[in-house]
Amino acid sequence: MSQIADRLKQIQETIVSTSVKAGRKPDSVRLIVVTKTATPEQILEAVRCGFTELGENRVQHLKQIAEQITQSLGASGQADIASRIRWHMIGHLQRNKVKPTLQVCSLIHSVDTLRLAEEIDTAAAKLAIHAPVLLQVNCSGEPQKYGAPVGAAFHLAEQIMSMPNLRLEGLMTMAPLTMDKDIVRSSFARARELFDEMRTEKVAGSKFRHLSMGMSQDYELAIEMGATMVRIGSAIFA
Ligand SMILES: *Cc1c(COP(=O)(O)O)cnc(C)c1O
Repeated sequence: MSQIADRLKQIQETIVSTSVKAGRKPDSVRLIVVTKTATPEQILEAVRCGFTELGENRVQHLKQIAEQITQSLGASGQADIASRIRWHMIGHLQRNKVKPTLQVCSLIHSVDTLRLAEEIDTAAAKLAIHAPVLLQVNCSGEPQKYGAPVGAAFHLAEQIMSMPNLRLEGLMTMAPLTMDKDIVRSSFARARELFDEMRTEKVAGSKFRHLSMGMSQDYELAIEMGATMVRIGSAIFA
Protein backbone atom coordinates (compact mmCIF):
# COMPACT_ATOMS: atom_id res chain seq x y z
CA MET A 1 0.00 0.00 0.00
CA SER A 2 1.27 3.51 -0.75
CA GLN A 3 2.06 5.88 2.07
CA ILE A 4 -0.95 8.09 1.35
CA ALA A 5 -3.36 5.18 1.18
CA ASP A 6 -1.86 3.85 4.38
CA ARG A 7 -2.22 7.16 6.24
CA LEU A 8 -5.79 7.63 5.03
CA LYS A 9 -6.69 4.17 6.24
CA GLN A 10 -5.14 4.83 9.66
CA ILE A 11 -6.84 8.21 10.03
CA GLN A 12 -10.19 6.75 9.01
CA GLU A 13 -9.72 4.00 11.60
CA THR A 14 -8.85 6.55 14.27
CA ILE A 15 -11.94 8.60 13.37
CA VAL A 16 -14.14 5.53 13.79
CA SER A 17 -12.54 4.33 17.04
CA THR A 18 -12.57 7.83 18.56
CA SER A 19 -16.25 8.25 17.65
CA VAL A 20 -17.16 4.93 19.22
CA LYS A 21 -15.13 5.69 22.37
CA ALA A 22 -17.01 8.96 22.66
CA GLY A 23 -20.32 7.09 22.49
CA ARG A 24 -21.07 8.23 18.98
CA LYS A 25 -21.97 6.28 15.85
CA PRO A 26 -18.94 5.05 13.85
CA ASP A 27 -20.10 6.93 10.75
CA SER A 28 -20.97 10.21 12.47
CA VAL A 29 -17.79 12.04 11.40
CA ARG A 30 -16.87 12.88 7.83
CA LEU A 31 -13.24 13.28 6.73
CA ILE A 32 -12.52 16.30 4.53
CA VAL A 33 -9.15 15.74 2.82
CA VAL A 34 -7.41 19.13 2.71
CA THR A 35 -5.43 19.23 -0.51
CA LYS A 36 -3.81 22.67 -0.37
CA THR A 37 -0.27 21.29 -0.11
CA ALA A 38 -0.82 18.12 -2.15
CA THR A 39 0.28 17.42 -5.73
CA PRO A 40 -2.34 16.35 -8.29
CA GLU A 41 -0.89 12.81 -8.18
CA GLN A 42 -1.35 12.67 -4.43
CA ILE A 43 -4.92 13.94 -4.68
CA LEU A 44 -5.67 11.34 -7.35
CA GLU A 45 -4.42 8.66 -5.01
CA ALA A 46 -6.70 9.84 -2.24
CA VAL A 47 -9.80 9.96 -4.43
CA ARG A 48 -9.03 6.55 -5.94
CA CYS A 49 -9.00 5.21 -2.37
CA GLY A 50 -12.55 6.51 -2.04
CA PHE A 51 -11.87 9.80 -0.21
CA THR A 52 -13.82 12.21 -2.36
CA GLU A 53 -14.60 15.07 0.05
CA LEU A 54 -11.82 17.57 -0.65
CA GLY A 55 -11.04 20.92 0.98
CA GLU A 56 -9.12 23.93 -0.36
CA ASN A 57 -8.64 27.47 0.83
CA ARG A 58 -7.95 29.30 -2.44
CA VAL A 59 -10.56 29.17 -5.16
CA GLN A 60 -8.20 29.84 -8.07
CA HIS A 61 -6.00 26.92 -7.09
CA LEU A 62 -9.06 24.80 -6.39
CA LYS A 63 -10.44 25.35 -9.89
CA GLN A 64 -7.16 24.42 -11.55
CA ILE A 65 -6.71 21.30 -9.47
CA ALA A 66 -10.34 20.26 -9.89
CA GLU A 67 -10.03 20.46 -13.69
CA GLN A 68 -6.78 18.50 -13.68
CA ILE A 69 -8.22 15.79 -11.47
CA THR A 70 -11.37 15.47 -13.56
CA GLN A 71 -9.30 15.17 -16.75
CA SER A 72 -6.96 12.56 -15.33
CA LEU A 73 -9.84 10.46 -14.01
CA GLY A 74 -11.64 10.75 -17.34
CA ALA A 75 -8.52 9.65 -19.21
CA SER A 76 -8.20 6.57 -17.02
CA GLY A 77 -11.87 5.61 -17.45
CA GLN A 78 -12.82 6.69 -13.91
CA ALA A 79 -15.29 9.46 -14.62
CA ASP A 80 -17.57 7.84 -12.02
CA ILE A 81 -15.04 8.70 -9.31
CA ALA A 82 -14.81 12.28 -10.61
CA SER A 83 -18.57 12.63 -10.33
CA ARG A 84 -18.42 11.75 -6.63
CA ILE A 85 -15.90 14.47 -5.72
CA ARG A 86 -17.24 17.26 -3.49
CA TRP A 87 -15.14 20.38 -2.96
CA HIS A 88 -15.29 22.33 0.30
CA MET A 89 -14.13 25.95 0.56
CA ILE A 90 -12.52 26.06 3.99
CA GLY A 91 -10.42 29.23 3.84
CA HIS A 92 -11.14 32.93 4.11
CA LEU A 93 -13.29 33.94 1.16
CA GLN A 94 -12.92 37.32 -0.53
CA ARG A 95 -16.15 38.83 -1.74
CA ASN A 96 -14.95 39.10 -5.34
CA LYS A 97 -14.30 35.32 -5.41
CA VAL A 98 -17.80 34.29 -4.41
CA LYS A 99 -19.20 33.41 -7.82
CA PRO A 100 -16.40 31.05 -8.94
CA THR A 101 -16.52 29.46 -5.49
CA LEU A 102 -20.23 28.72 -5.79
CA GLN A 103 -19.63 27.23 -9.22
CA VAL A 104 -17.23 24.57 -7.93
CA CYS A 105 -17.89 24.07 -4.23
CA SER A 106 -20.64 22.11 -2.56
CA LEU A 107 -20.13 23.69 0.86
CA ILE A 108 -18.55 26.96 2.05
CA HIS A 109 -17.25 26.58 5.63
CA SER A 110 -15.99 30.12 6.10
CA VAL A 111 -18.89 32.59 6.19
CA ASP A 112 -18.05 35.01 8.97
CA THR A 113 -19.51 38.44 8.15
CA LEU A 114 -22.86 39.82 7.13
CA ARG A 115 -21.35 41.39 4.02
CA LEU A 116 -19.92 38.10 2.82
CA ALA A 117 -23.22 36.31 3.51
CA GLU A 118 -25.10 38.95 1.52
CA GLU A 119 -22.66 38.64 -1.36
CA ILE A 120 -23.11 34.85 -1.45
CA ASP A 121 -26.89 35.20 -1.24
CA THR A 122 -26.93 37.58 -4.22
CA ALA A 123 -24.58 35.42 -6.30
CA ALA A 124 -26.57 32.27 -5.44
CA ALA A 125 -29.78 33.97 -6.54
CA LYS A 126 -28.22 34.82 -9.92
CA LEU A 127 -27.11 31.19 -10.31
CA ALA A 128 -30.59 30.07 -9.19
CA ILE A 129 -29.22 27.87 -6.42
CA HIS A 130 -29.46 27.58 -2.65
CA ALA A 131 -25.92 27.80 -1.33
CA PRO A 132 -25.14 25.57 1.65
CA VAL A 133 -22.88 27.41 4.11
CA LEU A 134 -21.38 27.08 7.56
CA LEU A 135 -20.93 30.02 9.89
CA GLN A 136 -17.30 30.31 10.97
CA VAL A 137 -16.99 31.25 14.61
CA ASN A 138 -13.85 32.44 16.37
CA CYS A 139 -14.07 30.39 19.56
CA SER A 140 -10.55 31.11 20.75
CA GLY A 141 -10.93 34.87 21.00
CA GLU A 142 -7.61 35.39 19.20
CA PRO A 143 -7.97 38.81 17.57
CA GLN A 144 -6.04 38.04 14.36
CA LYS A 145 -8.21 35.07 13.43
CA TYR A 146 -11.07 34.98 10.97
CA GLY A 147 -14.48 33.99 12.22
CA ALA A 148 -17.38 35.83 13.82
CA PRO A 149 -16.94 36.56 17.53
CA VAL A 150 -18.94 34.17 19.73
CA GLY A 151 -21.05 37.06 21.00
CA ALA A 152 -22.12 38.00 17.47
CA ALA A 153 -22.71 34.47 16.16
CA PHE A 154 -26.36 34.12 17.15
CA HIS A 155 -27.44 37.31 15.49
CA LEU A 156 -25.41 36.57 12.35
CA ALA A 157 -26.94 33.08 12.18
CA GLU A 158 -30.41 34.61 12.30
CA GLN A 159 -29.52 37.02 9.54
CA ILE A 160 -28.15 34.21 7.37
CA MET A 161 -31.30 32.15 8.02
CA SER A 162 -33.39 35.01 6.67
CA MET A 163 -31.56 35.11 3.34
CA PRO A 164 -33.57 33.32 0.66
CA ASN A 165 -30.69 31.76 -1.27
CA LEU A 166 -28.50 30.68 1.64
CA ARG A 167 -28.90 27.45 3.58
CA LEU A 168 -27.23 27.49 6.97
CA GLU A 169 -26.02 23.94 7.61
CA GLY A 170 -23.85 24.39 10.68
CA LEU A 171 -20.79 25.90 12.27
CA MET A 172 -17.05 25.83 11.63
CA THR A 173 -14.25 26.74 13.98
CA MET A 174 -10.47 26.56 14.22
CA ALA A 175 -8.71 25.90 17.50
CA PRO A 176 -5.83 28.17 18.50
CA LEU A 177 -2.36 27.04 17.45
CA THR A 178 -1.10 25.66 20.72
CA MET A 179 0.03 22.35 22.18
CA ASP A 180 -2.04 23.09 25.29
CA LYS A 181 -4.87 20.58 25.08
CA ASP A 182 -7.02 22.37 27.65
CA ILE A 183 -7.07 25.53 25.56
CA VAL A 184 -7.93 23.57 22.43
CA ARG A 185 -10.62 21.61 24.28
CA SER A 186 -12.31 24.69 25.69
CA SER A 187 -12.35 26.28 22.25
CA PHE A 188 -14.08 23.20 20.77
CA ALA A 189 -16.42 23.06 23.76
CA ARG A 190 -17.54 26.63 23.12
CA ALA A 191 -18.31 25.79 19.48
CA ARG A 192 -20.26 22.72 20.54
CA GLU A 193 -22.25 24.73 23.07
CA LEU A 194 -23.15 27.31 20.46
CA PHE A 195 -24.05 24.57 17.98
CA ASP A 196 -26.38 22.89 20.50
CA GLU A 197 -27.97 26.18 21.49
CA MET A 198 -28.70 27.11 17.88
CA ARG A 199 -30.25 23.72 17.29
CA THR A 200 -32.42 23.63 20.38
CA GLU A 201 -33.55 27.23 20.15
CA LYS A 202 -34.49 26.64 16.53
CA VAL A 203 -32.49 29.59 15.30
CA ALA A 204 -31.49 27.21 12.57
CA GLY A 205 -33.64 24.88 10.54
CA SER A 206 -33.58 21.13 10.05
CA LYS A 207 -30.59 21.35 7.70
CA PHE A 208 -28.43 22.67 10.54
CA ARG A 209 -26.36 19.58 11.34
CA HIS A 210 -22.62 20.06 10.66
CA LEU A 211 -19.97 20.98 13.18
CA SER A 212 -16.72 21.39 11.24
CA MET A 213 -13.75 21.37 13.60
CA GLY A 214 -10.48 19.49 14.06
CA MET A 215 -7.34 19.35 11.91
CA SER A 216 -4.27 17.07 11.80
CA GLN A 217 -3.10 18.02 15.30
CA ASP A 218 -6.39 18.03 17.14
CA TYR A 219 -9.03 16.03 15.29
CA GLU A 220 -9.39 13.34 17.96
CA LEU A 221 -10.16 15.97 20.56
CA ALA A 222 -12.60 17.61 18.14
CA ILE A 223 -14.43 14.31 17.66
CA GLU A 224 -14.68 13.86 21.43
CA MET A 225 -16.23 17.32 21.56
CA GLY A 226 -18.80 16.56 18.86
CA ALA A 227 -17.27 17.39 15.46
CA THR A 228 -19.18 15.98 12.48
CA MET A 229 -16.54 17.03 9.93
CA VAL A 230 -12.77 17.04 10.40
CA ARG A 231 -10.46 18.83 7.94
CA ILE A 232 -7.14 17.03 7.62
CA GLY A 233 -4.20 17.91 5.37
CA SER A 234 -0.66 17.56 6.68
CA ALA A 235 -1.23 14.24 8.46
CA ILE A 236 -2.03 12.80 5.02
CA PHE A 237 0.27 14.63 2.64
CA ALA A 238 3.25 16.02 4.59
C1 LIG B 1 -5.00 23.92 6.16
C2 LIG B 1 -6.28 23.86 6.83
C3 LIG B 1 -6.70 22.68 7.45
C4 LIG B 1 -5.86 21.42 7.52
O1 LIG B 1 -4.78 21.61 8.41
P1 LIG B 1 -3.71 20.47 8.69
O2 LIG B 1 -3.05 20.90 9.93
O3 LIG B 1 -2.82 20.44 7.50
O4 LIG B 1 -4.46 19.20 8.85
C5 LIG B 1 -7.96 22.68 8.04
N1 LIG B 1 -8.76 23.78 8.02
C6 LIG B 1 -8.37 24.92 7.44
C7 LIG B 1 -9.31 26.09 7.47
C8 LIG B 1 -7.13 25.02 6.84
O5 LIG B 1 -6.75 26.16 6.26
